[in-house]
Amino acid sequence: MTTLNDRIKRDGIVVNESILKIDSFLNHQIDPLVISQIAEKLYDHYKETGVTKILTIEASGIAPALMTAQQFEVPMLFAKKATPSTLLEEQYKTDIHSYTKNITNSVIVSKEYLSQNDVVLIVDDFLASGQAAMGLIDLVKQAGAKVAGVGICVEKSFQGGREELEKMDVDVYSISRIASLKSNEVTFVEEARH
Ligand code: 5GP
Repeated sequence: MTTLNDRIKRDGIVVNESILKIDSFLNHQIDPLVISQIAEKLYDHYKETGVTKILTIEASGIAPALMTAQQFEVPMLFAKKATPSTLLEEQYKTDIHSYTKNITNSVIVSKEYLSQNDVVLIVDDFLASGQAAMGLIDLVKQAGAKVAGVGICVEKSFQGGREELEKMDVDVYSISRIASLKSNEVTFVEEARH
């Protein structure tokens, strides 16, 4: 079985020391086999936590979040970029700074789809500084719901997001953990420890 690490080694493009491009199987063209393996592993890790909903942010979190929701047999909800016509009283809203685009977006979820009875697993494609995950946690907290954890496809472990989330007592589980993108090369946390 090809693991996500193998696939990253084979098809990932190191753009620079901070950005990895995986457009051929996760961020543009999507390989359903890769995503379904990720979803199975996330399910295995969080299956005892009573998850009632999977939450992500558009657009690139949607594919892994949907497959994960299928494993748990619960709905998947994605935070949408707010538009000027957005009716604030009916929505939870937070600001998220985008790591790759260097812009801040207001994102919303409808109050109708998140309640205090929910136990929410947050899923995203990448974890870098943790801004996206922290924004999603903020939405969950506004609803009075519980965070089961943050499940990530690719964590760049050198960019501080995991530490920030762990400070908030959040269980972070990442399928692939990258220690460095230096010298145009992907080094995984497991390799860096050796
Ligand atoms: P954070 O909010 O943790 O700083 O960054 C996570 C978000 O930025 C993810 O939702 C992801 O879409 C995007 N992102 C961060 N780093 C990378 C990267 O190296 N490659 C790609 N394709 N997206 C990234």
